Amino acid sequence: MRYVFGLIFLLSVLCSEAKQMRINILDELNTRKMSFSPQQCDYSMILNEDKIIAVKQQDVITLSYIGKSQVHIIKNGISVGTYKKIVFSSEDSLPSFKLSITLPKTKVAVYEDVLEVQAYDGELYLFNLVEMPHYIAGVLESEIGNVRYEELLKVQAVISRTYALKHIDRHKPEGFELCDKVHCQVYHGKSRFNPAIKPAVDSTGELIVVDESLQLIEAVFSANCGGQTTNSEDIWSKQRSYLRSVCDTFCITEKQAFWEKRIPKSQWLAYMSKKLNKPVSDPCLIHISDRKVLLPCYEISYKDLRGDFKLRSTFFDIDEDGDMIVLKGRGFGHGVGMCQEGSTRMAALGYHFTDIIKLYYTNVQVVDARDLNLE
Ligand SMILES: [Zn+2]
Ligand SMILES: [Zn+2]
Repeated sequence: MRYVFGLIFLLSVLCSEAKQMRINILDELNTRKMSFSPQQCDYSMILNEDKIIAVKQQDVITLSYIGKSQVHIIKNGISVGTYKKIVFSSEDSLPSFKLSITLPKTKVAVYEDVLEVQAYDGELYLFNLVEMPHYIAGVLESEIGNVRYEELLKVQAVISRTYALKHIDRHKPEGFELCDKVHCQVYHGKSRFNPAIKPAVDSTGELIVVDESLQLIEAVFSANCGGQTTNSEDIWSKQRSYLRSVCDTFCITEKQAFWEKRIPKSQWLAYMSKKLNKPVSDPCLIHISDRKVLLPCYEISYKDLRGDFKLRSTFFDIDEDGDMIVLKGRGFGHGVGMCQEGSTRMAALGYHFTDIIKLYYTNVQVVDARDLNLE
């Protein structure tokens, strides 16, 4: 039954042709004055869900917060009146607009689809109601804009879509779905600079990643796993069936595969003694061939060592050189889920995007909701 509800959810979210995301944008700017201008298309301006005014390609609309949750609207230098809520929407097939924030700070950006402006709490709140593929393309350009490998862009498109749908209720109490910051996914508006992004996003249609129970996965990743990823419960308290430790031979030749840190032996032993609450003289020199949770000699976790000595990963050997302890480490980051350098290498070698996803996430399926059979 749970599966059926999961499927119904997926179908209801994904099969609606015009799934729009409601993204709160540029909130950090505390906008009090801004202007809107269409980009080679026409828009309509809907005032308080009541009055409609045409906005042509060459028009410039200026909105100023004037207190008491009211916005003064000027069209091409002529006052239109004061309203609380303004929506800009277009009948064009691919509408986009330029947004210029002028008070208190200055910022110019281009977005697609619909803009909603609401005045309250002393400022203008901006919401971009954006078609899912446009949103995903914008996220990809904001987060990994310089990537050219088609299969890697497809991996990221599928993962970004999965993430968006999994967290769609995150900001519900605030009246929108996702913010445009790293808290949700970084989104700076329309994808305009990397021509490889749009075809990659479009080619993945409505694909998402689900676990064995057909639940959307938490698609976490880190920079370089050092050749072996980490079980989720070894780093965080949560155990996830798809976040298992797997071998990764693709990242071990990459930039962040190895690191080294030297620590005075006296400091190392003092740390151990304090941690164990007893004198320690054995520095626990050890070579490990796979990831461990605890040091083999003492009840001290690699996770604690990483935090306390600010190490790049929890995957390292312990060696000595005179009166120094030398930590010889592998990878960079928590190591759970997808390995960025490994997945990039796989894409460069021509692996299909579903093979990349399935290497790093265990027992998952890449599914298109339209193909799911409810029976
Ligand atoms: Zn957020
Ligand atoms: Zn890796």
